[in-house]
Amino acid sequence: MPLVPMRQILDEAAKGGYGVGAFNVNNMEQIQAIMQAAHDTQSPVIIQASRGALMYSKLIYLRNLIEAAEEEFPEIPLAMHLDHGNSVETCKQAIDLGFTSVMIDGSLAEDGKTPNTYEANVAITKKVVDLAHPLGVTVEGELGCLGGIEDGHGAGLSTDEVNAHLTDPKQAEKFVAATGLDALAVAIGTSHGAYKSGRKDPKTGEVLPPALAMERIHEIHKRMPNCHMVMHGSSSVPKELVDIINQYGGKMPGTFGIPIEQIKDGIKHGVRKINVDTDSRLAMTGAIRKVLFETPQKFDPRDYLKPARDAAYQVYVDRMNAFGQAGHAGDYKPITLTAMKKAYGFGGDGCGCGCH
Ligand SMILES: [Zn+2]
Repeated sequence: MPLVPMRQILDEAAKGGYGVGAFNVNNMEQIQAIMQAAHDTQSPVIIQASRGALMYSKLIYLRNLIEAAEEEFPEIPLAMHLDHGNSVETCKQAIDLGFTSVMIDGSLAEDGKTPNTYEANVAITKKVVDLAHPLGVTVEGELGCLGGIEDGHGAGLSTDEVNAHLTDPKQAEKFVAATGLDALAVAIGTSHGAYKSGRKDPKTGEVLPPALAMERIHEIHKRMPNCHMVMHGSSSVPKELVDIINQYGGKMPGTFGIPIEQIKDGIKHGVRKINVDTDSRLAMTGAIRKVLFETPQKFDPRDYLKPARDAAYQVYVDRMNAFGQAGHAGDYKPITLTAMKKAYGFGGDGCGCGCH
């Protein structure tokens, strides 16, 4: 089965009332762990790569690894997505490589750091939609800015600045209409990475979890019940995974994630794609540290990469169950980019899948 346009995976998730994890990858072990988890839980799944990941693994290796994944598990609907594309050129490159979905993050300028104007965001997002839809490729855009930095991408905003750049539901409605995008990444106070909060208890000085503006998701869903929302920076940063890292020589104090309950609330209100990266990184690092700490004589990478892959697998299984995508792999017949192209109104009279 060829790779599936992400739009179909999101449309089906909306029909079924569940969310789909979009997991970031850099290497073979992560891709294998995701696919094994998707197979074991019968989940449709989105694998995504940031520009940093593509640079690390070299584009062609990652693309071919994902194709191998699809070949091993043809019954799993799988979309390949570019995370945080920063320019039309980057998105075009990904589409040429065979990605079935791209994100153009017009919330920031091309440097991936400076917050953009609304008008500039609309203009670049629309350009990517005009490029992608005639090819059947899905487009995700972003309105508002997230905190934190991911693979060198992000404004690194402070908590106050993050709160000043939350997604405005009214503007979101205009943005979706003006661009024609398929999925909207919203800024509700989440940050990339493991350090999601600059909030401190004024009395004790203790770091507190980030406060999320869930009401903005509720409001956007009310205004646009058919809009697929995306939550970025949505790792849960489980304490037990951080504890393993710290137990075996790591130093990760004061980490906080997004509680699964809040993600589930988002899913009830139109969130269909949930980006998770940090959690699998934590699981893998903890597993590797443990092996190297307990058996310092070992030097075969397989001795620590296999436990790392197993630890990541468990994270993916847990998330697939929590987001509700588990059990839905066989619900529908995946369509091709050509059918999706027709559904967007290019060169045909609809794909007949009921997605439009
Ligand atoms: Zn992101």
